Amino acid sequence: MAEGAEGLVLVDQHVAHERVRFERIRDRLEGQGLASQALLTPVTFEAAPEEADALSRADAVLSSAGFSVSELSGRLFVVSAAPADCAAEKVVPVLRDLLGRLSETAETGGGRDAGSVSKMKDALAASLACRGAITVNRRLSPEEAARLLTDLSTCRDPWTCPHGRPILLTLAHAEVLKRFGRSSG
Ligand SMILES: [Zn+2]
Repeated sequence: MAEGAEGLVLVDQHVAHERVRFERIRDRLEGQGLASQALLTPVTFEAAPEEADALSRADAVLSSAGFSVSELSGRLFVVSAAPADCAAEKVVPVLRDLLGRLSETAETGGGRDAGSVSKMKDALAASLACRGAITVNRRLSPEEAARLLTDLSTCRDPWTCPHGRPILLTLAHAEVLKRFGRSSG
């Protein structure tokens, strides 16, 4: 809960953090890419046909997200590097989740044109942003809450999460007074 110029503001901390992370990740995908870390033990996985398809279309986007994936044979792939903040045992689940989202993007007009690449980056950033965001039930310290609001205020779109859900709800002063049966302060 926070105080705004118009009244009481309720903040969904998960989607607020998701929005902050989304814009940072999205900017980095456009720029130098996310920090990547080589895996001590490369992991192999067998891709489903649509996953293999997404892999071949999104290779550039995935490598800007820190993944290094190469084909061994058929639909057998090896992952030799992953985003730096991704735990080793999470590499394949995260990659599969991303491939699933990327193939959804592909169905709505995916190719290698600039528009599709941009949509793929949006999908990738939204997924990574959600994964690392604070959960809705975690109790934040006053400092953490203030930090989150400051970070949110610097976002290009502080009103909705990457999936279009609202981040803030405002309960106007006048509405609060009315509900308490008062006509004025
Ligand atoms: Zn989320």
